[in-house]
Amino acid sequence: MMSGVRVQTSVAAAATRRQWLARAGAATALAATTGGMALWPEVRAFAQQVSDFIEGPPMKDIPAQQLSRHVWMIYAEDGFPTAENQGMMANIIFVVTSKGVVVLDTGASLQIGQMAIRMIRKVTPLPVMAVFNSHYHGDHWLGNHAFVEAFGKELPMYALAHTAEQIKGHEGNLWRSLMERWTNQATLGTKVFAPNRITQHGEVFKFGDVTLKMHHYGQAHTPSDLCVEVVEDKVTHIGDIAMENRIANIDDGSYPGTFKYFDEISKAAGEQLWVPGHGKGRKDLLHTYGTFLKGIWEPCLYAVKNDIPMEKAKDLVLKDARVASRAKTMAGFDSNIGKYTSLAFLEAEKEAF
Ligand SMILES: [Zn+2]
Repeated sequence: MMSGVRVQTSVAAAATRRQWLARAGAATALAATTGGMALWPEVRAFAQQVSDFIEGPPMKDIPAQQLSRHVWMIYAEDGFPTAENQGMMANIIFVVTSKGVVVLDTGASLQIGQMAIRMIRKVTPLPVMAVFNSHYHGDHWLGNHAFVEAFGKELPMYALAHTAEQIKGHEGNLWRSLMERWTNQATLGTKVFAPNRITQHGEVFKFGDVTLKMHHYGQAHTPSDLCVEVVEDKVTHIGDIAMENRIANIDDGSYPGTFKYFDEISKAAGEQLWVPGHGKGRKDLLHTYGTFLKGIWEPCLYAVKNDIPMEKAKDLVLKDARVASRAKTMAGFDSNIGKYTSLAFLEAEKEAF
């Protein structure tokens, strides 16, 4: 009954949430009851069906902003998921072509994806023709569910092969359940819909009057970060390889890999409005974020080469002007800088030997 009690307590939070929380509470109570009757498969199956019907509340509308002739952004104000923001933590980008709409990342839930479709409808009546997922972190693709629901299972949803494998495997359900927990179950009802098409570096797509070019230069934020260049607009969606004012998760990434990626995509695409998954797009984003990351990486590399231990390396990082200048205002800095410095140090050790 524990989870039932927890859900009931938070009912006081907001009147609009009361209804669905009460329903969620009832189902959790039912699930808990049936847990004690594990030998009654029909009851258990019934409880599963009930919980399949329960969905979190709708996401509030966030009108899209036009970034360029064809490109629009539904902006996520926050960088991290909470009960209040219902998981709205990553931008959703859509490209309106003469033939239809292409969506670059779909948000962190069914409800966010449904909101994105409502916002697309305010801009154009044209159908969604394709979806691209930048990488396997759930805030960028859990919204696929809404697009499958609205446009059918045959809707082409593209990603790099490794991203699709991760979403089909353990990462898919892990992200679905983490997002439910982080949002106090506001994303309930979201199901995993993995990309059903594979794309690769260098592939070029023509959608109506718009050309999309695929970029991938090895491990950066993850081993498989897809960047999508909207050629006619000089706008490139870069997922999480750089962020405007939020420290990026680098658990699955690489510091030198990120620098190499920045160099190569800058050479290949030239001047672009670089639009990240978190924060606003900027023409100098790869430079500003790259400078910050070098402020973590270079002191660690120096420490490793000079037999300075990890704890001292952390002091060097915090004192580095490239890091110190961003420390006060960057979202997630205090809670993550220690861990990401350790990761830089460990990677520097590998690099040095
Ligand atoms: Zn990510």
